[in-house]
Amino acid sequence: MAGILIYSEKSKLALELLTAARLIAKGTGLNIKILCINSDKQAEEMVAQGAETYHIKEQNLNLADTAAVASALQQAAGKLDASIVILSSNRRGKELSGRLAQKLDAGCLSDVTSLQVKDGKVQCARNALGGATIATQQIETDMQVIALAPRSFEPAGLQDSGSLKEMAIEIESSLIKVLESRSKAGDAADIEAADILVVVGQGMEQGDMVLAESIARALGGEIACSKPVATDKKWLPEDRIVGLSGKKCKPQLAIILGISGQVQFNVGIRDANTIIAINNDENAYILQMADYAMVADLKEVLPELNKALGY
Ligand SMILES: Cc1cc2nc3c(=O)[nH]c(=O)nc-3n(C[C@H](O)[C@H](O)[C@H](O)COP(=O)(O)OP(=O)(O)OC[C@H]3O[C@@H](n4cnc5c(N)ncnc54)[C@H](O)[C@@H]3O)c2cc1C
Repeated sequence: MAGILIYSEKSKLALELLTAARLIAKGTGLNIKILCINSDKQAEEMVAQGAETYHIKEQNLNLADTAAVASALQQAAGKLDASIVILSSNRRGKELSGRLAQKLDAGCLSDVTSLQVKDGKVQCARNALGGATIATQQIETDMQVIALAPRSFEPAGLQDSGSLKEMAIEIESSLIKVLESRSKAGDAADIEAADILVVVGQGMEQGDMVLAESIARALGGEIACSKPVATDKKWLPEDRIVGLSGKKCKPQLAIILGISGQVQFNVGIRDANTIIAINNDENAYILQMADYAMVADLKEVLPELNKALGY
């Protein structure tokens, strides 16, 4: 029977894909298979979650070589008779989804934030017009590649009867040679995973960044920013950007300092549980989105807030 194949190199994201796949399986009757590449640990984790797991062990297959991974997935989809491949729409997954769809002659949707099955068809919701609206779209080709925005689905819960099989594939000669892979130096923060975010914008002054950072530290949160703070002012690294071209975050609490609330920013934070925004312009869009809005000058508020937090 045709099935659903899911893959992400990150276990947490793979479990989110598993939740979405179970939703599709319920509406279509397709069975679910999960692929792991060169990771015994991930393969064991997936089996423990009750997934029918296939493991490709190929030391010559480098996960940083997206073309090679796409080729591996193409072969796996063929061997497992998958008609739907679900990936994560993180940075690498987005590239992978396009490459794989091209190889499989499949329709492809990325950045999917929710889905439902109607009349046996998978309908996907994704932000459109820069996040100003949500479009519902479905793929019409027989083969489908769907990439889900991280944290759009809860990680899958336990189910029994998982299994593990090794899968052999042909390694194609690659057009690129990966000389070295390493994490970005000096900034290991994962703002998508943070429960508390202090998000700074151009309404801040550079000298006050230390005050915003100490608030984040006092609350056990992370500091994040609007795009120009990283790309133009270079006060923070680009992986701290919230928004359309940055990260989509869902913290329990977001404290937003000196950000106007353009749609490209808002789309990255609107799913926060509670939003507190401080801005000196009472007409700033961000104040309309906030649960708690304060019209005030950051120059006055930040020292007071620090004092209140014991700094
Ligand atoms: C294709 C595309 C993708 C984009 N992607 C992103 C993205 O992913 N993320 C993103 O953030 N942006 C993105 N942008 C840019 C976005 O449109 C905005 O330009 C950006 O979000 C504005 O950043 P900001 O709110 O920090 O600055 P501004 O718009 O300049 O707002 C600064 C705010 O600070 C307030 N302020 C000033 N002084 C003080 C003070 N002393 N006290 C209190 N408040 C004060 C002002 O009233 C103002 O509201 C994108 C744009 C495009 C075209």
